[in-house]
Amino acid sequence: MSATTNTTTLISNLGSLVTNDPSRGSGGPLGLVEDAAVVIEGDRIAWVGTAADAPAADTVHDAQGRAAIPGFVDSHSHLVFGGDRTQEFNARMSGRPYEAGGIRTTVAATRAATDEELAANLAKYLREALRQGTTTFETKSGYGLTVEDEARALRLASAQTSEVTYLGAHIVSPEYADDPAGYVDLVTGEMLDACAPYARWIDVFCEKGAFDGDQARAILTAGKAKGLLPRIHANQLSYGPGVQLAVELDAASADHCTHLTDADVDALAHGNTVATLLPGAEFSTRAQWPDARRLLDAGATVALSTDCNPGSSFTSSMPFCIALAVRDMGMTPDEALWSATAGGARALRRQDVGRIAVGARADLALLDAPSHVHLAYRPGVPLVAEVWRDGVRAV
Ligand SMILES: [Zn+2]
Repeated sequence: MSATTNTTTLISNLGSLVTNDPSRGSGGPLGLVEDAAVVIEGDRIAWVGTAADAPAADTVHDAQGRAAIPGFVDSHSHLVFGGDRTQEFNARMSGRPYEAGGIRTTVAATRAATDEELAANLAKYLREALRQGTTTFETKSGYGLTVEDEARALRLASAQTSEVTYLGAHIVSPEYADDPAGYVDLVTGEMLDACAPYARWIDVFCEKGAFDGDQARAILTAGKAKGLLPRIHANQLSYGPGVQLAVELDAASADHCTHLTDADVDALAHGNTVATLLPGAEFSTRAQWPDARRLLDAGATVALSTDCNPGSSFTSSMPFCIALAVRDMGMTPDEALWSATAGGARALRRQDVGRIAVGARADLALLDAPSHVHLAYRPGVPLVAEVWRDGVRAV
């Protein structure tokens, strides 16, 4: 180890370690090491191997045989919001009609909230996710839909995570209900100018009733011209142009991918765009599951994420999404774990997270279980016992 001022910590006695480094272990994408140890130096991984070979370190932490995985990379959430939609969920799941405003309900509550309320709410859900092993978190605007409210959401988000997405094109703002073209002009003009300084990504909800393919292309192209990187809500509720547009524009990710033609699957398999599946949304709306097996068999890269939002998927739990993906979407436990870690990193075009390798961020979750398979085998059980983020034990 190089001599630096950073202190070193040896996490030893790991029953198993998922590295997502295929050069390790007995082959396979997870790079599984048994009886493992990790050395952290500052905020980075400095050494990975078997416990018997571990070098000395300034401090030693006994993991007591726990399994370790890279911290989850949750690449899709909507957590700058006010209010709550319990009644809407309860009515939907009880088969009762409900005159819900849907996203508009959250827009009104978000606009009415103070900065302090929105920031505290975001911090609460980020802590909740951290306790469940999530160490990298993307979140979006999209409940402001005015220049000031979208810029405010992104400013507040950027104080808490580096993965911030401008989603002024979530729905057409209620004020522009009769002038959707005028709203697209706003999203690609004054609103974009106000939001771009706080965001890394630009996103659009490409769906019937939201934005069509031509509008989505105009919005993402305008964002790219301002230095933002594209990602798309695509093919969630119906077939549509979103997935192919994502691949055409080299979007990092096409998110949802529930309704795919063979041509859509083929485009994902041959492009650089990750298919991010969000099973919390299908769970919470009793909708058809996305077919992960079909995508994987075609050769597409699949990520799993929570889509945490107060309307259609109010879970911050990556373990829950893993369990759903294994039970209902045809993924193996190994594939689901990879997609929730390395897959999420690919969907954010990050090399430094989602894997345990020398030089990567020291982000790990330790499980009260002998294997990562228990995340799907023991659904609903809070197995995450310790979380290390940026080299510091955070949980
Ligand atoms: Zn979403």
